[in-house]
Amino acid sequence: MRKFIWLNPVVNEMYGKETLEKHLAEKGYEPVFCREDHIAAVKEKYRSALDKAHTYVADVRCPMAADYIKEVYSPDFLEFPPIEPILLHCARELHERLSCQGVLWIITPCKALADMGNNIGLPETRFCTWKEFARLENIQLRGKALDESPIPPGFFLGHEEQAVVLDNREKIDFYFSEPSRKAKKGMVELLYCSGGCHHGDGV
Ligand code: SF4
Repeated sequence: MRKFIWLNPVVNEMYGKETLEKHLAEKGYEPVFCREDHIAAVKEKYRSALDKAHTYVADVRCPMAADYIKEVYSPDFLEFPPIEPILLHCARELHERLSCQGVLWIITPCKALADMGNNIGLPETRFCTWKEFARLENIQLRGKALDESPIPPGFFLGHEEQAVVLDNREKIDFYFSEPSRKAKKGMVELLYCSGGCHHGDGV
């Protein structure tokens, strides 16, 4: 049974692509890569969601942030579009291409994305954080601290005129605690970990 593995960009950046590939090859894993531009595809889906929206559209790429806001604030001026995170778009492409050839591992930067991936139930596909995977396979590598995420805050800037960037829990709390917020159209970018996924609980 072949073992394929897709590493998210944060892991590649923190641990070094070549070092990772060497360790993974020793354990019998074959790194795989996407052929489609899922970043552009996801941006396009948000653009279309914003066109149809009557008020603000939430960025739901980060499940922790979206769930937290729904649970704590349930704002009536925010729509949550049914758009999957980029990582799930990658997983679906790879699953389609590699199905019946082996097991596909998708390595996430946090437990929330791993749980979300496992919940969609793609056959022969497992989602887990890098920390979990390294423990399972006994890979001991020291990652370097990154100053910024490979997909930094500002995902929607330059494309949408009105984009609010809330890239940590404190900013989210501050923004949603304001009692009255005028309903108008725009994007609200949301990241739970400070500055993005390089501070996730799985890397
Ligand atoms: S790593 Fe943090 S910011 Fe990135 S998706 Fe997970 S919870 Fe959100």
